[in-house]
Amino acid sequence: MTSDFIPEIDLSRCIGCELCVRVCSTGALALIENIAVVAYPEACTYSGVCQENCPTEAISLTYEIIFFGATREEAKEESIKGTQL
Ligand code: SF4
Repeated sequence: MTSDFIPEIDLSRCIGCELCVRVCSTGALALIENIAVVAYPEACTYSGVCQENCPTEAISLTYEIIFFGATREEAKEESIKGTQL
């Protein structure tokens, strides 16, 4: 099963250790010029194993939260409030 989402990789945090590439069971990740990239997004199952194993927290699995009936600005405001709880 694949996912509609793919992990985000913070290039400034990636040290090119290749751990994420080695633990990804579907081979979605690759190291290109010593930086991790989601080379095969169609293979990503969004399991989170890459994020769990990254020593520098360079990988994050994010979700888009949709607030029904809210404008983008209202949704952003609600999101900010939510992080302050
Ligand atoms: S595990 Fe983290 S630091 Fe290592 S290659 Fe992957 S993203 Fe970069």
